Amino acid sequence: MFRTLRIAAALVVLLVVAVGAWQAKRRIASWEIPLRAVVYPIAGDDSPVTRAYVDQASLKTYYPVERFLAEEAGRYEVKTKFGDPLRIRVAPEVKALPPPPPKGAGVLDVVWWSLRLRWWAWQADTYGGPPADVQLFVVYHDPALTPELEHSLGLEKGRIGVVNAFASDAHAGANNVVIAHELLHTLGASDKYDLRTAQPRFPDGYANPGADPVHPQRFAEIMAGRIPVSKTEATMPPSLNATLVGEVTAREIAWLR
Ligand SMILES: [Zn+2]
Repeated sequence: MFRTLRIAAALVVLLVVAVGAWQAKRRIASWEIPLRAVVYPIAGDDSPVTRAYVDQASLKTYYPVERFLAEEAGRYEVKTKFGDPLRIRVAPEVKALPPPPPKGAGVLDVVWWSLRLRWWAWQADTYGGPPADVQLFVVYHDPALTPELEHSLGLEKGRIGVVNAFASDAHAGANNVVIAHELLHTLGASDKYDLRTAQPRFPDGYANPGADPVHPQRFAEIMAGRIPVSKTEATMPPSLNATLVGEVTAREIAWLR
C-alpha cells in the first residue's frame, strides 16, 4: 500500500514537471512576453586578468545581445506585449565550474552529463530575482593562458547555456556573438555550419543567400557563426553588428510561422 502511494506520488511529481516544462515552452514560443535570460559570470582560471574582467562584468557587457535580438525580432515583425523580446539580468559570480561535457559521445554519457549539468545549474544559482527562462553561464579565460577556447554549448532541455569566453575588452564583441548563438540554441535553433570544416552551409547558413554574387557575404548568420567570404573560406564576425538571424533560424525559434 505504502509502496503504491510512493509510486503514485512520484508519478504526480513527474507529471507536474512535464506540464510545467510544456507550458514554459509554449509561453516562450509565443513571444508575447519578453524572455528572461540571466547571465552568470564565472572565472575559468586564477589569472588576475580574469578576476578583474569578471569583477567588472555588468549589464553593459551583455547589452548588445539584448539589442541584437530586439533588432532582429523587429525585422521579422515580432512584438511582445511589453517591449523588447529579451531582458538580460546579471547574477552574482558563480564560484564553481560547470561539469565538463563528456569526451566520448556515447548517448548515455551525454544524457547523464546533461542531467548533471541541470542539477549543477539549479544548485549553483546565485540569482535572487524571479526564475530565469534561460540560464547562461559565461566562463571567462585569460587569453594569454588559454589562446584557444573549448566549445560553448546551449541545451534546449533545461534551457542552459555554457559559454567559454575571453576575459578581454577586445573580445567582448565576439563573446557576445557566442552568447547569442548559445542562447538561440536553448530556444530550439540548430547549427548551420558543416561540422567538419566549420564552413557555413548554403543556403540556410547564409545571412543573405539571395545576394548576387553570393560571395563575399557581408554578414554571418548567427547559427552558422561565420561570414562566408568564398565557397571555402569564412571569417569570424567581430561583433553582433556583423550578424543576422536567417529565415530558417527565425522559423526554429517561432519568429516565422
Ligand atoms: Zn552551435
